[in-house]
This record gives sequence, structure tokens and C-alpha cells, in this order.
Amino acid sequence: MAVLDILTIPDERLKRKAVAVSDVAAIGGFIDDLLETMYHTDDGIGLAATQVGSTDAVLVIDLSSERNQPLVLVNPELVEGRGEFVGEEGCLSIPGYRAKVSRFEYVKVKGLDRDGQPIEVESDDFLAIVLQHEMDHLQGKVFIEHLSKMKQQIALRKVKKFA
Ligand code: ZN
Repeated sequence: MAVLDILTIPDERLKRKAVAVSDVAAIGGFIDDLLETMYHTDDGIGLAATQVGSTDAVLVIDLSSERNQPLVLVNPELVEGRGEFVGEEGCLSIPGYRAKVSRFEYVKVKGLDRDGQPIEVESDDFLAIVLQHEMDHLQGKVFIEHLSKMKQQIALRKVKKFA
């Protein structure tokens, strides 16, 4: 296992769209690295492969306070989204910046688990927000793209100061 470097804006690789993984077993080691990288951060609760420069469509999330309940989702797809929730978000790729973003309140997402078995995840809670945030990464999108150009400039300045 290894702790990988997390890309920060304005790294162009954060804009790449992920490609569906055809052989989940083949990326088992990479999934372990993603988890280790997320757990290595102070407060990272989710990480998408895009953030470490990979184009594999895989994301990991752990909302437990003990950080021992990982959710691994390969090839995630939004099945259903409804309602609206506005909450403050941060991102490991945009250190030092947080802002309010509008999301679906409820989502149902399908994908594969780390054994390649189909799973469905449903949430109308914080998990719903994190899922949407991480799935955006796999589409080459960081959360500040939901904000005004002015706020995006502020975020970029903060990251540069942080670096
Ligand atoms: Zn993020």
C-alpha cells in the first residue's frame, strides 16, 4: 500500500473524465492505495481516483468517526436524484477553501463493490452529498465549478497561498 499524492487545482488532470473499470480485481491494489491516501489526510472523508491522477472510475468514502467503514464504489452511476440541499463543502484538491453548494438531497447510486459485485447505495443524508461530490470528480469536475467565476478565483488564490 502507498500514500499517493493528491492533485490540487488548477492541475489539468482534475478535469479528466474517468473511464469505466472493466476488471475490478485488477485494481485491488490501487483501491487499497486510495483508501490509505484518504485515511492519511486529517479530515478526508472521500477521495476519487481522479484526484490522484488516475482515470479509473472508482471512489472511496468513509464517514465513520473511527475511519474503519470504507465504502468503495467502482463505475458509479446516478440512478435517481431528488430534492435540494445546500451545504458547505470542502475538497482535498482545494485545500483551505470551503463554500456552499446546492445538491440533490436524496440520491440512489449504483456501481460495483471492490469484489466486482453490483451494489446500490441510497442516502438522503450527508452521504448523498459526498457521493455527488466524488462522482463529480470522476466527471472531471471540482465543486467550485458549481460556484460563480468570482468565487472560483478566490478559491484558486487560497489554494496558492496554502501551497
Ligand atoms: Zn473533492
